[in-house]
Amino acid sequence: MLDHIHHYHGSGVENMTGKNSGGKDTAPRTRLSVRIDSYVYPDGTNALSAMALDIREGEFVGILGSNGSGKTTLLKVMDGLMKDFKGDVLLDGMDIRKLAPKEIYRKVGLVFQNPDDQLFASTVFEDVAFGPTNMGFPEKDVSERVKSALAAVDMSGYAKKSIHNLSFGQKKRICIAGLLAMGHDILLLDEPTAGLDPMGEYRMMHLLQKLNREDGVTIVMATHSVDLVPLFLHKLYILSKGAIVRGGTPEDVFTAPEEMANVKLRLPHIAELIHSLKHKDKLPFDKLPLTIGEARREILKVASKSKD
Ligand code: ADP
Repeated sequence: MLDHIHHYHGSGVENMTGKNSGGKDTAPRTRLSVRIDSYVYPDGTNALSAMALDIREGEFVGILGSNGSGKTTLLKVMDGLMKDFKGDVLLDGMDIRKLAPKEIYRKVGLVFQNPDDQLFASTVFEDVAFGPTNMGFPEKDVSERVKSALAAVDMSGYAKKSIHNLSFGQKKRICIAGLLAMGHDILLLDEPTAGLDPMGEYRMMHLLQKLNREDGVTIVMATHSVDLVPLFLHKLYILSKGAIVRGGTPEDVFTAPEEMANVKLRLPHIAELIHSLKHKDKLPFDKLPLTIGEARREILKVASKSKD
């Protein structure tokens, strides 16, 4: 059953997604190249084991895994916060361990799961301005950067507001603005939809999609929201016990319910429903839809077959 849940090493995902099929010359450049043999916390916990993944310019990638699977650890390694791993992590071809923090933070930033761990100033303006000020931009540029970062996260008009009075979702947006204001074009986000209500989850995913599509931000997000990812993400890696067990498009990685259960995840609800209609009720579905739109099309096909 688990035969095709293999340890994924490198180039396979590009082939699986069918993206970049024009060959190497046309493939977007690799921004982050991650080859990890292991990462062990000082207390002996083996948090990451053999894995390889490449994040290319302009991608919107999900790292999907249950609690404790290693998502946060992997993001921290990719942000240069944890250097004590065995392997190589390259940012634009350069060893991330050899780069000065300033060189890393000009390009890539991590949005923590809990915004209260990230925000510290008293007003929105001060918080978003902190990064660019520290990077040495003149005051006028800092104001411009704050203004456009707040606009990018749909929070224009909140500059003077106290951080303390923002909603949880607004705080998450301000964390993202803080990184955008520093000029990051690679965002790593740890569970960006966690703690948000259902509309807030959609708004956050739409915001990330807009940043990716319109502003060209490369995005890697850790998540366990299996219902949301098929709607938004190009590519997914499933992380289980510190290893990448599968990678590819949502269609590639969401397989049978038993295989998802093995990695402590489930299928999107809509896929679970169609899977049981096919296997328990023997309805002739050809493919496993992952979204309501796809399910509707497949159901209409099956309904029209039964009329014939
Ligand atoms: P996730 O983000 O997927 O929930 P984490 O990366 O936080 O997973 O954790 C991966 C593993 O590493 C877990 O077994 C967790 O208990 C362990 N871990 C996380 N942080 C530490 C730490 N500071 N010290 C020791 N073990 C840790």
